[in-house]
Amino acid sequence: MDAAFVTRFAPSPTGYLHRGHAYSALTAWTAAHEVGGRFILRIEDIDRTRCRPQFEAAIYEDLAWLGLSWETPVLRQSDHLADYEAAVADLAARGLAYRCFRTRKEIAEEMSRAPHGAMDAWRGAPLPADEEQARLAAGEPFAWRLSLAAAEQALGGFESLNFLEAGAGPTGETGRIAARPELGGDVVLARKDVGVAYHLAVVMDDARQGVTHVIRGQDLFEAAHVQRLLQALLDLPTPVYRHHPLLVGPDGKRFAKRDRAETLAELRARGISPTALRQELGFD
Ligand code: GLU
Repeated sequence: MDAAFVTRFAPSPTGYLHRGHAYSALTAWTAAHEVGGRFILRIEDIDRTRCRPQFEAAIYEDLAWLGLSWETPVLRQSDHLADYEAAVADLAARGLAYRCFRTRKEIAEEMSRAPHGAMDAWRGAPLPADEEQARLAAGEPFAWRLSLAAAEQALGGFESLNFLEAGAGPTGETGRIAARPELGGDVVLARKDVGVAYHLAVVMDDARQGVTHVIRGQDLFEAAHVQRLLQALLDLPTPVYRHHPLLVGPDGKRFAKRDRAETLAELRARGISPTALRQELGFD
């Protein structure tokens, strides 16, 4: 028994859950149950334009149908916006974040004009103070971005940053991994429309909720490199990561909302039992 083992499933209510989510949730839940640990459900609903109450309601329904149980109350990120904003302000005050007025399109254009073809990840710089003032005065919207250059200077390089990968990355990376936050570039910490963005909210909540093991799909492996840096800058503990292979369909393609993968609700309506689905996914 390991009561100190805390893991979570952190879906965004931007669509209905499908088999891929069921696989991920079952993987995390089973890992917690095997060691007598805790399983937390977290609703990542910072994207107010895409999140819908009916998707959130369906998450609870689907997971209960699958036979999972979780601790209550469930943390919803939209209830913690002030905390994230305070962290962004702290990073900005320390010179680790800068205002970015560029649009997605401008960034894509700049990246395609980079000397060696497309850059891997965007890195910008703060505007000169007078230009920034002028844009602020004009009411131009801006995002806050992490300054990799400032972070590198503050930490004296990234060499000391690593994390334990107890599963494997997409190309088999496992064990003690040197963090390469440059993979993410100057990530957005606070979007123009909401006062926060994915990476910052995740690291703050994993710490707030005492998550010791982050169990999630391999598509988020690169995110761990960025999140490790944010943990160092915000003085937060680093959980163990366990990235699992993505579930693929009979066509060899991963399940995804955008491909209109069959939802758990649809599957249920077809009369598939939770036991049958659990077995299909390799549990029980
Ligand atoms: N909310 C993220 C998603 O829906 C998952 C975040 C995470 O597991 O770190 O993909």
